[in-house]
Amino acid sequence: MKSTIDLNMVNAFIPGRTKLDNLTAAMIDRRDALLGPAYRLMYENPLHIVRGEGVWLIDGQGRRYLDIYNNVASLGHCHPAVTDAICKQVKMLATNTRYLHDTILELAERMLSTVPETNLAHLMLTCTGSEANDVAYRIAQAHTGGTGVIVTETAYHGFTDAVAKFSPSLGPTVDLGAHVRLVPAPRLYHAEGADLGERFTRDVEAAIADLKRHGIKPAMLLVDSVFTSDGILPEPAGFLKGATDAIKRAGGLFIADEVQPGFGRTGEHMWGFQRHRIKPDIVTVGKPMGNGQPVAGLMATSDAVAEFGQNSRYFNTFAGNTVSCAAALAVLDTIEEEGLMQNAADVGKILRDGISELAVHHRAIGDVRGVGMFVAVELVSDRKTRVPDREFTSLVVNRMREKGVLLSACAMGHNVLKIRPPLILSVEQAGIVIETLEEALTFARAVESS
Ligand code: PMP
Repeated sequence: MKSTIDLNMVNAFIPGRTKLDNLTAAMIDRRDALLGPAYRLMYENPLHIVRGEGVWLIDGQGRRYLDIYNNVASLGHCHPAVTDAICKQVKMLATNTRYLHDTILELAERMLSTVPETNLAHLMLTCTGSEANDVAYRIAQAHTGGTGVIVTETAYHGFTDAVAKFSPSLGPTVDLGAHVRLVPAPRLYHAEGADLGERFTRDVEAAIADLKRHGIKPAMLLVDSVFTSDGILPEPAGFLKGATDAIKRAGGLFIADEVQPGFGRTGEHMWGFQRHRIKPDIVTVGKPMGNGQPVAGLMATSDAVAEFGQNSRYFNTFAGNTVSCAAALAVLDTIEEEGLMQNAADVGKILRDGISELAVHHRAIGDVRGVGMFVAVELVSDRKTRVPDREFTSLVVNRMREKGVLLSACAMGHNVLKIRPPLILSVEQAGIVIETLEEALTFARAVESS
């Protein structure tokens, strides 16, 4: 089987669909031969990127692409504050958590100081967001004595065996665990005026009851606090409160997965859960934490982590290494020094307003939503019925790539443009995004009606 066919990715490269230049085709064959069948490439015409700089990715021919998708390089690609911190530390000491060292302690103090309203008291480090959720699940099991997990219907939380079992966005070929219950994503655009908070709470309560009925004790409710792979669902702020109360009443933990919304992307707070005024037992973090350096982890309350700490020791060779901690400290400094949260709020709004104006002439745009530097554009074949238009979305994503702007799509219907630029995006660059999107929408409409 070819590695690159994936019906679960709207923008996956599909062999034979697009005529590729010889160099690209040869590189894809070499990659398939060397890396095997599990990897996927993005776009019908995959990119070969050799350099990154700010919001730009640059290919071998020197063509610059505006990267509005990469929420890892959240400060911009190769930000000098981070690359300098990494170089300085790697020349001094690159080692693990078996020794005392200041960087990890300073990082823990800095991270925990971002959540004063909670009881989160400890930081544990991992290398990836998947590991963070995996460890969070182990902590939840140890604390509750249960195994039951509740997630939303198109959630993604990671790749490990345990976590893939509660990552339904991996598609029907990856089995969910018998201890996993899915609840509908809280989609305001499709709620027909219902109270979203009430509805989500009811759905979580029903999932808890169903777990119990099957003899499964609930361990945790785990949500990405902006529901990124469910289609970016931030509104109305506060709707998560009832559901978090419900899981706590049932003896389970509430875990906020901040791998996507964390580190200021919402433009209002450091973490997405903070806009809901809730108190998680565990918060998992990752992606932008090292601006590209692999560093992730979790913050937990003393109560939640007590049993796990007693029964297991935790060591993860590369996690919490001095170099990754130095990178993460530089990220925290830069968010503050460059006022990036404010920029995320200001330029994110400009993006959403500009795209909303396009909806006047482009009937495929059913909804424009988001918060901070998260923008979702839901594309539908009919505004009344709100039917997802996956084909149209794929045309738009691939046309944008051809025109030099990189984004992707998400949600169950694969019909929501997912826009997550680096937090440094300027007003002028937001203008490029809006202009290019207008062209791509016009192009897609012409293709569909031809
Ligand atoms: N949680 C969420 C919400 C994610 O989006 C991701 C990655 N896309 C993960 C966890 C897993 O992180 P990683 O890829 O670093 O393992």
